Amino acid sequence: MYLLKANKKKLKKINSNKELIKEIGIARFLTAFLAFRFKHIDGIALYPFAILKKPTEKLIKHELKHLKQQKKGLTSFLLKYSAEFLINCLRYKFNIKKAYLNISYEKN
Ligand SMILES: [Zn+2]
Repeated sequence: MYLLKANKKKLKKINSNKELIKEIGIARFLTAFLAFRFKHIDGIALYPFAILKKPTEKLIKHELKHLKQQKKGLTSFLLKYSAEFLINCLRYKFNIKKAYLNISYEKN
């Protein structure tokens, strides 16, 4: 697991869940833990941090983009993101992968 900080743009290797909780807090940890139960999710941005399973240049760029979007307005990002996800779940008959990939923030 790797941690990316919005302001530092430097990756930090995380060796245990305990270390991750210490860095990002329990609420972000639980969110990331739930998100990572979906195999196709390799990273999650929870401002001011992004947590990455296996960092690749493409994934780092993608998560930095989310951090930038969240910096502009965290609440509106979270509301729009969750609303689109829920609508997509209905639209794609609970195909979670399809619902996730069709969130406007996930399309670049
Ligand atoms: Zn994304």
